[in-house]
Amino acid sequence: MLEKKGLVYRSTGSWYEVRDANGDFFSCRLKGKFKIKDLKVTNPLAVGDEVSFFIEDGEEGTGVIFEISPRKNYIIRKSVHKTAHGHLLACNLDQLVLIVTLANPKTSLGFIDRMLVTAETFRIPVLIVFNKIDLLPKEGIEYQDVLIDLYTSLGYGCLVTSATTLQGTDDLMAALENKISLVSGHSGVGKSTLINILDPELDLATNEISTFANKGVHTTTFAEMYEIKANSYIIDSPGIKELGLMDVSQSELAHYFPEFRDLLGECKFHNCLHINEPKCAVKDAVEAGEISETRYMSYLSMFDNHDNRR
Ligand code: GDP
Ligand code: ZN
Repeated sequence: MLEKKGLVYRSTGSWYEVRDANGDFFSCRLKGKFKIKDLKVTNPLAVGDEVSFFIEDGEEGTGVIFEISPRKNYIIRKSVHKTAHGHLLACNLDQLVLIVTLANPKTSLGFIDRMLVTAETFRIPVLIVFNKIDLLPKEGIEYQDVLIDLYTSLGYGCLVTSATTLQGTDDLMAALENKISLVSGHSGVGKSTLINILDPELDLATNEISTFANKGVHTTTFAEMYEIKANSYIIDSPGIKELGLMDVSQSELAHYFPEFRDLLGECKFHNCLHINEPKCAVKDAVEAGEISETRYMSYLSMFDNHDNRR
């Protein structure tokens, strides 16, 4: 019996595709009754997990996972039923790469801010990629620059790309190097096109794992990991593309807006929600132009919809 360590690339819910340090893939099952520690989730492990597994004699290519290494972080998609357990989407992420566009289909600031709050709740850094720059008129580019200044000042990385002219694609590649990145963004913003530019051989790479596909239940509703370059991974997760995944109480929400966070001790009321209260440091900062109005609008919108999940 041979023991190995590897990275979970895909999961169907009952089978896990694991890659070892040599780059070989194994279709693995979980050992017996696997306990889910602490987290309120239905699935015990996810893409990005590092696992230990053994290969039984004569069972080449398949393995049994017996241990999950401690996680750096994780993303859980909450169930629509408030009390039910959530779904573990991905683990050990270095960053969330949020692909957006101000061209068609235009990404709303509300969506961007909701994704940023989500990433804040899981303590995952964000890189915002403004794609389709080739389609923007001059005013559009000026507006985009304003947004880039805003989000950069809040501590989020920003990049401008065009999959058509290839502007910025080298910078995007550099930003992905030696990292595990979860790629998200609305359908149609150019995720697949950009990823195919970064790694034109990706189709070949995915074909290598045909034995796994043969297990049948391969479904696109689970996250998948790809190595686009040595030690640089992206996770494409259908589950996060269109979702605000946050599960944040109204009183906590302001903590996930970095520019509000610093002011929270300065409101007159210690339990200030920054809506109607007098002497609210957050509202004062909005009025003084120190906090962007669009960010405050996003705050209000999330505050009102904090229970509604789409
Ligand atoms: P996805 O749903 O996010 O994966 O988006 P796709 O990669 O399928 O792209 C949607 C459409 O936008 C396709 O027709 C692409 O050719 C087009 N597209 C993607 N990136 C760009 C870009 O930077 N500029 C232009 N003009 N079109 C783009
Ligand atoms: Zn306040």
